[in-house]
Amino acid sequence: MPNVSLSQQEIEQIKQLLAVPKAICILTHRNPDGDALGSSLALKYFLEKFNHTVKVILPSEYPLNFQFMKDIDDCMVFDLKHDECRNVIKKSDVIFCLDFNSLDRIDKLGLSVQESKAKKILIDHHLDPEPFADFIFSDTQASSTCELIHRFFYLLGEESKIDLATGDAIFTGLITDTGSFKYNTNPYTYKAAADLKERGIDDYDLQDRIFNSLNEKQLRLLGHSLANRMEIIHEYKTGIIALTKQDYFDYEIQRGDTEGIVNFLLMLKGIKLAAFIREQPTIVKLSLRSKGDISVQEIARTHFNGGGHKNASGGAAYAKLEDVIKRFKKVLPNYVDPVK
Ligand code: 5GP
Ligand code: MN
Repeated sequence: MPNVSLSQQEIEQIKQLLAVPKAICILTHRNPDGDALGSSLALKYFLEKFNHTVKVILPSEYPLNFQFMKDIDDCMVFDLKHDECRNVIKKSDVIFCLDFNSLDRIDKLGLSVQESKAKKILIDHHLDPEPFADFIFSDTQASSTCELIHRFFYLLGEESKIDLATGDAIFTGLITDTGSFKYNTNPYTYKAAADLKERGIDDYDLQDRIFNSLNEKQLRLLGHSLANRMEIIHEYKTGIIALTKQDYFDYEIQRGDTEGIVNFLLMLKGIKLAAFIREQPTIVKLSLRSKGDISVQEIARTHFNGGGHKNASGGAAYAKLEDVIKRFKKVLPNYVDPVK
């Protein structure tokens, strides 16, 4: 599906939809990251300026390193409050779906969204968006959903509503989905960043809070992953880090503790494909990253029931850890030319 922007007519329709105070709910994907949380909070602040009643619903809990985000505790968590969240969706006039491309990314909440008669607006940058919404603002070239939220405010002609809290939230998604502007960027990413800086956000503070906030346990886990759990397959320019259930126990790994580990593999010269594979209570989760033309989205979609972006995707398998690693190694020749 080609990139879809909003037509002038759709923009007018959305403006009309938002012209009088409504009950609005904002949904984002399971295991929300900086982009999911940043875009949701930014949109919430924006909509509240028009006197809408806004609720953010997260399918599952957020990583602790985002605890610093203002108002994050106001987000409702479906895993903790099933019925309350379902009721909010039921009573909503408008549902925004941010940073996900299909309803199966929000678990059982997808059913509530499907049943709802609310107007649905999807804003997202993942490949292959499913057409479940009334309005689709999807651009797979965008660095982040936060970048699209910034564009959305401008498209509505309401950019004057971007205050410091909104700017901080948008900047959070810009830097987390681009690794501080190292990948996925396009000219608009920098324009948005410049615009936010002009509006007075403290970008140094945000970078520091987000990227220099590991605790000792997390840093030791990174050391363990690199020293003891890393395998390099030079022939296929691939690095793998695999963590076992025992590692989860030994390092008391919690939500967010493993964030970013996969990227270290791509720091190795010559490595083009990185897999971070971890054994969880019922499934094995994979985080895949690549450089250049290798599409990890294709690998995730074809072999691990997942998806995402060309150079950053994820998936899962109901199998033993060693079998998942074997499956991943087996398909490598289909995606990477061997070193001669
Ligand atoms: P991460 O590896 O950081 O969890 O995710 C990388 C990218 O892949 C994100 O854009 C995320 O939304 C997507 N992703 C991660 N896991 C899955 C999955 O199981 N299914 C799909 N469709 N996308 C995923
Ligand atoms: Mn994103």
